Amino acid sequence: MEFRELGKTGLRVSRIGFGASGLGDAFGTIDPSEGRAAVREAVEQGINLFDVSPYYGLTLAETRLGEALEGLRARVILSTKCGRYGVEEFDFSARGIATGLEASLKRLRTDHVDILLAHDVEFGSMRQIVEETIPAMRRLQALGKTRLVGISGYPLGMLERVMREVPVDVVLSYCRYNPLIEDMDGTLVPLARELGVGLINASPLHMGVLGGRAVPEWHPADAEVKAAGRAYAAECRKAKVNAGAAALRFCMGNAGVASTLVGMATRGEVWENLVALEMEMPEGLEERLAGIAGAVKGRVWQSGLAENN
Ligand code: NAD
Repeated sequence: MEFRELGKTGLRVSRIGFGASGLGDAFGTIDPSEGRAAVREAVEQGINLFDVSPYYGLTLAETRLGEALEGLRARVILSTKCGRYGVEEFDFSARGIATGLEASLKRLRTDHVDILLAHDVEFGSMRQIVEETIPAMRRLQALGKTRLVGISGYPLGMLERVMREVPVDVVLSYCRYNPLIEDMDGTLVPLARELGVGLINASPLHMGVLGGRAVPEWHPADAEVKAAGRAYAAECRKAKVNAGAAALRFCMGNAGVASTLVGMATRGEVWENLVALEMEMPEGLEERLAGIAGAVKGRVWQSGLAENN
């Protein structure tokens, strides 16, 4: 495994991170014992960053991750979130953040997390996030309940506005840098570098679109993007290359990103994705994949309050 500095936080994270939303059945019902084995195999293979949220599977993912990390907690950098608790359930108040983290710690079977992110900040009011939520998270940090404080979300402008108004240690952005979109690169990447903020890029498969497997109902991408994803995966299959690993490899090429979080719930997926670290692409494949993705490149959807998009 290779590691990178997470901004100026002093933490070194594995270039591939384990996204645990799938442990909460976000992409379909999983076999929990296989999910547990996937977590343990990932640790064995040197993956040290694990990201989860109370929102994933409405607490199920945290419960399963906590169980799977039994005895391994000291070997990992554990990231969870606060403020989002359901599809339309948000509580970014100071009190909600404190009680939310307490409940997460119980499920995760630990007395502290390493990273606490305000989850999907575009669903909250900018003023509350800056003036109430992040200060409340800093108080939890002072109490030793989290080592670092940050934000996650989809609209880049909102993430950038928060970063400019109030210091954060870590930012998690998703579906803004992968073969189907690269707009994070010109905006968030230089800002994170300038501010010394640790940048985590999530969803290298565009939340499963590029993997060639069924995409869940809730996926917000349009039909043409999903069709392009299927074509991308088919082209990879023809070349005997794993499509997920190809997408992950593309994302890992971004020097401004400390870790790329990929969603995994089986040992097979862990092994498939580890290949991305030292993968040689067959001649011409990258160009063909760029052509397929290029036809629908850069399409975005609305997320959160209109004023934050
Ligand atoms: P992803 O792009 O990593 O795709 C995950 C899907 O791809 C799952 O269905 C998985 O089974 C499948 N997959 C994984 N490896 C594959 C492979 N090699 N070949 C084919 N299919 C493969 O999307 P994601 O899971 O949404 O993102 C990763 C993680 O990032 C999440 O689990 C979560 O921890 C984090 N995340 C955070 C936010 C947020 O904070 N708002 C949003 C999105 C993701």
